[in-house]
Amino acid sequence: MSAIIVVGAQWGDEGKGRVVDYLAQEAHLVARYNGGDNAGHTVVAQGRTLKLHLVPSGILHRDALCLIGAGVVVNPERLVEEIEALAELGVAAGPERLKLSAAAHIILPSHRALDGARDAARGQGAIGTTKRGIGPTYADKAARVGLRAGEMGDPARFAERVAALVEEHNRRLERYGVEPVAPDEAAERYRAYAERLSPYLTDGTALVGDALAAGKTVLCEGAQGLLLDIDHGTYPYVTSSATVAGGALTGLGFGPAAVSQVIGVAKAYTTRVGRGPFPTELTDAIGDRIREVGREYGTTTGRPRRCGWLDVVILRYAARVNGLDGLALTKLDVLSGLERLRVAVAYERDDGARTEFFPAEFGVEELARWRPVYEELPGWEEDISGARRRADLPPAARAYVERVEEWVGVPLVMVGVGPGREQTVLS
Ligand code: GDP
Repeated sequence: MSAIIVVGAQWGDEGKGRVVDYLAQEAHLVARYNGGDNAGHTVVAQGRTLKLHLVPSGILHRDALCLIGAGVVVNPERLVEEIEALAELGVAAGPERLKLSAAAHIILPSHRALDGARDAARGQGAIGTTKRGIGPTYADKAARVGLRAGEMGDPARFAERVAALVEEHNRRLERYGVEPVAPDEAAERYRAYAERLSPYLTDGTALVGDALAAGKTVLCEGAQGLLLDIDHGTYPYVTSSATVAGGALTGLGFGPAAVSQVIGVAKAYTTRVGRGPFPTELTDAIGDRIREVGREYGTTTGRPRRCGWLDVVILRYAARVNGLDGLALTKLDVLSGLERLRVAVAYERDDGARTEFFPAEFGVEELARWRPVYEELPGWEEDISGARRRADLPPAARAYVERVEEWVGVPLVMVGVGPGREQTVLS
């Protein structure tokens, strides 16, 4: 039995899509375990760029089955769109290959409206959510009033439930002074989605459990990253789900003994979208350069990402919280041409305290008291996008990779030197 878990080791957008895409070649089942269409994976295959928000990137591999697990929240409109976009590209994404866990929760238009209204009401304290309705849908799930995907099996009854929940949301929207959502219209649309999507419904735990019992490889794909985790991230500037490796177990429903490998994905620098603490942020020309060369604009929202130096304090914390066996470092090519590189190797406080692990638990005010301690390394001029082995990298790039490995204390199993599937340094 073997489950491989791929998690983001920073604030999301680390390039998990390409790592999952690579590992999916060996997988029988590729399963998403958290988040919703606030995630955005970009996969480049055979010269084609594909943006997927809900469907696991494994869909590009003909032999892999794909599962949207119980821990995911699903906007059915988006799912139907993705299935159709895949079909247009000639990628089969029918119910024989793509499965939707009956326990996944459904996002309604009124969840989306509430998301925007609530964040706007926070004013200066706004979290900067993606306004996809993710937070309100998880809130309804925790309050035990949510709609589960399995209810789509009875479209007429499902439509009634949609109308009732929209009406309840409308009462809250009214308090925010926001336009209500028409319950009948929503019910009608969702009835059509239910008819379209009910063939995809499955018992996710059975699918995963049977695959593991048969000795097959299950690749578990996390969305977002460690520091956006609801428990272990920079709360309240986090998402509403478990992004960490443990989230794969709860979000898909299997036990820890089946896990054979946990791979953390990190960029060779750091980015974050939206508000919240970011100790190694660069607000100067170097930050702008990383943003432009790395095309650091959100896949889902187009928002410019904040950019900064690599922070191994975060990566050590990622290794600890997720139990990382290996690290995949992406976008090393983006750093080419910078004269000197800095890496945060510890944080210090004015009272002399020092830490080598990201101090997330006491919250953002405490975090603001810590300053990064940097080490400086020489940069490299060369184009490294053709490198396939570490030996192909210029000495300074090789030294950067080796130092990161040493600082984090986890082996680097993969280094990305370009967006293409083959632009990977493996050994
Ligand atoms: P995810 O949400 O973690 O899967 O991240 P995204 O897929 O949104 O972001 C990764 C982006 O970086 C995509 O546009 C990828 O094509 C690109 N990318 C991934 N790895 C590399 C790399 O090694 N070099 C470069 N230049 N781009 C990369």
